[in-house]
Amino acid sequence: MSHDHDHDNELDPFAARVRALETILTQKGLIDPAAIDVIVDTYETKIGPRNGARVVAKAWSDPAYADWLRRDATAAIGSLSYTGRQGEHMQAVFDTEDTHNLVVCTLCSCYPWSVLGLPPVWYKAPPYRSRAVIDPRGVLEEFGLTLPAGRKIRVWDSTAELRYLVVPMRPKGTDGWSEEQLAGLVSRDAMIGTALAKEPA
Ligand code: FE
Repeated sequence: MSHDHDHDNELDPFAARVRALETILTQKGLIDPAAIDVIVDTYETKIGPRNGARVVAKAWSDPAYADWLRRDATAAIGSLSYTGRQGEHMQAVFDTEDTHNLVVCTLCSCYPWSVLGLPPVWYKAPPYRSRAVIDPRGVLEEFGLTLPAGRKIRVWDSTAELRYLVVPMRPKGTDGWSEEQLAGLVSRDAMIGTALAKEPA
């Protein structure tokens, strides 16, 4: 019997399994749904892409911090107290005029939760995971991002051990901006690599 289809294309069996498990554990009194809600709420509203945006803004503002981030992202990010689940081993990849960085997890959905919060649905979807590697330029076009023809695209495949944070280029016209102002230009997608930092209005 052949087994070459992709289970992920079916009606999300993983989510169904998670829900079934949660129901059983709750009925047996082993977990408190309220506690789970707190964890989910933490990742949905408290730990989000604003953390990553502050890291990027600090790197734009402080060359010594940028250098540290380049050499040891885990420690540099940890110094801002953004550590924890799936963010233990981080590498920051810096966009330049020559090279654009794009992050994917081809195997599953590894993602730097501690700096970006919960992954977007498309990040976990098979089309993005396969096509980001095969045709990154085409994928970026679909996100509305057309890069200069000469700019190379480097694709970083996340693993359970190593997560990537893209540091986009600082937009022109932002001299003298505070870190808080700069952070406002850094979207989640810019730190995955499917967008650039926003231009100042
Ligand atoms: Fe993964």
